[in-house]
Amino acid sequence: MDRNFMVSIEQAMQLVDEYTSTGTKTITTLQLARNQYLADSVSSPIHMPPFHQSAMDGYAVHFNQDHQNNFVLIDEIKAGDAKNPSLEPGEAVRIFTGAPVPNNTNAVIMQENCNVQNNILIIEDQLTPNKNIRKQGEQIQKGATALEKGALLNPAAIGFLATLGITEVAVYKMPKICIVVTGNELVSPGTPLKHGQIYESNAIMLQTALAEKGFTDVAILKVKDDYTATKDSLKNALENCNFLLISGGISVGDYDFVGKALLELNTEQVFYKIKQKPGKPMFFGINQQTLIFALPGNPASALTCFYIYIDAALQKHIGNPNHQKQTVTANLKNDYDKKGIRGEFLKATLHQNQVEILPNQSSAMLNSYAKANALIYLEEGVQIYNKGTKVTVFPIA
Ligand code: AMP
Ligand code: MG
Repeated sequence: MDRNFMVSIEQAMQLVDEYTSTGTKTITTLQLARNQYLADSVSSPIHMPPFHQSAMDGYAVHFNQDHQNNFVLIDEIKAGDAKNPSLEPGEAVRIFTGAPVPNNTNAVIMQENCNVQNNILIIEDQLTPNKNIRKQGEQIQKGATALEKGALLNPAAIGFLATLGITEVAVYKMPKICIVVTGNELVSPGTPLKHGQIYESNAIMLQTALAEKGFTDVAILKVKDDYTATKDSLKNALENCNFLLISGGISVGDYDFVGKALLELNTEQVFYKIKQKPGKPMFFGINQQTLIFALPGNPASALTCFYIYIDAALQKHIGNPNHQKQTVTANLKNDYDKKGIRGEFLKATLHQNQVEILPNQSSAMLNSYAKANALIYLEEGVQIYNKGTKVTVFPIA
């Protein structure tokens, strides 16, 4: 592919999707499976409930046409009791919520609707079959599918699997991620700035964005704008991660060595530039199994590329069936003159179906990005957007 081949935003999304595969399957405990996606469907090893269960504190009865109001109390069963008596017609037991009902029970009557005198239960309630009984297997039958492959392991899903006695599930391995930050001018916050220096912020910003999505296996390497040092760092990173994110050094300056080093390391370049603002010089490639996203160093560009492309790839990698970025349509609250044909992502605030473009759209600025909860997507080609126009929006928070 031509080294300078520039793709459209849609092509870039498509290519990232094509080159991304799901991670390897692994078995993990329920404790560690939080927010992951099932790699295999799970079937229930038991009936749930496992036995006919009382849904109330009250009395389990065996009624028929001849026995409707008065029952002889023969026993008491608490939640957890193992006894398993049988009721003759006209007999009842005292019972509590969650306890197994005796054999031949056909209703449980709430204690509020009963009186007991001399071991005789008197009922002031309508008797209907199966009243207040949770039938064995009513929620799920043994062998039935409890959760499908691709299900999100949210708190309810984890709880549900635990009710079935399941302790481990198959998920896709969370990826190892490496962030390589380039730039001679960068110093870590906490040290005084010398003339010409700025604080390095992309590593912690991307790390935070990753952590918010549950990706915590992240290594950070910092490298000077030096060809050999860049190549060595990238080589080292490539050997140790599934996703390599690189910040800066991918543009056309004399000291941008990332592209050259990646190609020298036998990286397959998928695309090098995207017809977008911000983030035009975004390189995407693959080396062995490692996906490589080389992002422009400007902080707002790097973060936008993360939200639009990298997050979608990560989601696909961990088996999220809805890995494609979700969009909504909203009405633009400002007029906007786009100046240029590239597609644009604008930092914005989205409230209900109204979206407002924030000031300070420069790719070097994060001050308004910090208040944004959405990116407005303005298509390639279209130039003038008027207030009230319906636009496509990527929610980011
Ligand atoms: P580059 O893509 O390396 O040409 O960098 C573009 C701009 O982003 C320059 O003004 C850099 O100083 C700035 N920049 C690059 N990397 C970072 C970073 N990690 N943190 C903050 N600013 C950066
Ligand atoms: Mg640089």
